[in-house]
Amino acid sequence: MSQPECLFCKIVAGGIPSEVVHDGERVLAFRDINPQAPVHLLVIPKEHVASLADTGDSNEGLLGELLAAARDLAVAEGIAEAGFRTVINTGRDGGQTVGHLHVHLLGGRALKWPPG
Ligand code: 5GP
Ligand code: ZN
Repeated sequence: MSQPECLFCKIVAGGIPSEVVHDGERVLAFRDINPQAPVHLLVIPKEHVASLADTGDSNEGLLGELLAAARDLAVAEGIAEAGFRTVINTGRDGGQTVGHLHVHLLGGRALKWPPG
């Protein structure tokens, strides 16, 4: 179910403009508005899922689709060979600021580790 107050549900519905790079049956990907690397995409389920912690075993297929889309987008964006990072921030300590599950796809520069 779409959540009317959810930012990413609004993006899915087209109510907030975004630079969409992939529009699949169940998965949408668009460029992050505040990119932290030359390539910074957000890969999200079209249905509202609050976070990774809010998924269950019935969401396994969807979770696989999110990662498969991130992999394909890494190829499409030309960062697959050099390498890239996929990140799912979850909850307060995980640094999640938007309460709709999203996979960050980051690349185009060497990324540091560990995160802060
Ligand atoms: P989080 O901190 O929850 O892991 O990631 C949320 C991400 O959403 C941030 O990287 C932030 O820049 C991005 N973001 C927030 N609002 C918007 C928006 O309106 N449009 C787009 N494209 N990205 C957004
Ligand atoms: Zn949502």
